[in-house]
Amino acid sequence: MPMSTANRPLGSTPPGDASGEIEISLYESRKKIQTRSVTGTFTRLRWAAVWFTQILFYALPWFQWNDRQAVLFDLLSRRFYLGGLVLYPQDFIYLTGLLVMAALSLFLFTAVAGRLWCGYACPQTVYTEIFMWIEKKVEGDRAARIRLDDAPMSRAKFARRSAKHLAWVLFALWTGFTFVGYFTPIRAQTAEVLAGTMGAWQTFWIFFYGFATYGNAGFMREQVCKYMCPYARFQSAMFDKDTLIVTYDAERGEPRGSRGKKVDPKEKGLGSCVDCTLCVQVCPTGIDIRKGLQYECIGCGACADVCDEVMDKFRYARGLVKYSNQNAITGGWNQAQIVRRALRPRVLVYSAVLAAIAMAVGVSLYLRVPMKVDVIRDRGALARMVERGRIENVYRLQIMNATEDQQVVNLAVEGLDGIVIASDPQVEVLPTEVRTVACGCRCRRVQPVARTPSCSSCGRRTTRPSAWTRRPPSWCPFEVTVRATRASAPRHRAGGQPQLQALPQPPAVSNRGNSTLFSRWMWLIRSSVSCAVPA
Ligand code: SF4
Ligand code: SF4
Repeated sequence: MPMSTANRPLGSTPPGDASGEIEISLYESRKKIQTRSVTGTFTRLRWAAVWFTQILFYALPWFQWNDRQAVLFDLLSRRFYLGGLVLYPQDFIYLTGLLVMAALSLFLFTAVAGRLWCGYACPQTVYTEIFMWIEKKVEGDRAARIRLDDAPMSRAKFARRSAKHLAWVLFALWTGFTFVGYFTPIRAQTAEVLAGTMGAWQTFWIFFYGFATYGNAGFMREQVCKYMCPYARFQSAMFDKDTLIVTYDAERGEPRGSRGKKVDPKEKGLGSCVDCTLCVQVCPTGIDIRKGLQYECIGCGACADVCDEVMDKFRYARGLVKYSNQNAITGGWNQAQIVRRALRPRVLVYSAVLAAIAMAVGVSLYLRVPMKVDVIRDRGALARMVERGRIENVYRLQIMNATEDQQVVNLAVEGLDGIVIASDPQVEVLPTEVRTVACGCRCRRVQPVARTPSCSSCGRRTTRPSAWTRRPPSWCPFEVTVRATRASAPRHRAGGQPQLQALPQPPAVSNRGNSTLFSRWMWLIRSSVSCAVPA
């Protein structure tokens, strides 16, 4: 049997068994990382990002707009509220635009400054930072936590561990509660929590999201970045030699070695690195930046901050570990050259495309029609003859009011001599309401003919031809077609079923006057209804 090597360090030579078979484990047990506290420019920037993103996340659902939640993704009623914007699933194109912009921003910022997102704004980084802060407050700094880890279970250890986990759980549940508050009104949700009347799904998602936060930020931490996040894997495709990364200046730092503060390193033949390993101790992913660029590095800059502190203590120049790029390190570039190179063609192309898409989405949102209409043929009623020989066709109009004002819509129809709206031509649509109305269209009386006509395409005959038909050649009283102006749909299909298609949106509708609405509706009906009745 092959010998298990699960706990053997990778790279060591495994002993073979009698048959010469060797099993090499591809699994490495996790070594718990206890990071040391650090201060400095990049740490302050990271905390600024933590405050900004978290204040935004926790406060946003509590803001009100027109007596409703300002930001609410109401999945049940399929409406998305963003301030004064009311979006429907039909506005999915804006979400697509937003995702494209997010992807392009990621490309742009990565090309310029490496893993900025990972180091400063990614929820995994942000929540890990918060959970580590709680841990430090309850259990002490790195040395105290390592001692606590090694100590046997005692009342004091149990109390500290319980307090830490209680704080983590409460924070995680609050996070889950806030997250669900983006999808159900958070004030009503608070009342339900206090009354103990929460729905099953709400409860599930609060606990699910809370559990994910607790697990990822409390336990998984750097493992998420190293093994689960795909971005860490494909980021190298977006790097080039001018991308800013956290680098160790090996030329200046090597040969490394410990020394006293008053010792001249040149006399001892040493570089600037005092081999204090503080850069490793502060690293949230536990790597040694002196080994060069590694995919585990999230670019947080903690090692640069702590190394600057060490350099200050030894009165050496700062910047042994710093944000730089490969070209700058090998070519000895100064700051101005690095900044100039940041504006290279690749970055300019990303910026131009991003700006163009942002502008297109902005203009499209600005010109967005606040009223959406779908017209479909009523499947429940065929074309029929009504009083005085008139022919009636019924359509279903689905009117979506994307404003927060009540709208009055006037309906009109054009296209055939004498065609009129048979139902109420005025429709009231409440704020953000989706209203479905039946709209009958009647055209004038037609002359009877003596013989039974049949449709030239489907061959069907009418049952009462003499009462309501005139001469052929090519019309069918059963057949009503709703056309999209851009579609070239056939008038008939096998089986003679009407061909229904989605309609183009009407031009922008003003919510101020019925006259504008009227003209837009005229346009809509005129462009969309075609009845196969002889003129
Ligand atoms: S913190 Fe700076 S001096 Fe200390 S080991 Fe790291 S690179 Fe060397
Ligand atoms: S190597 Fe430095 S920049 Fe990279 S993750 Fe570790 S501390 Fe952050």
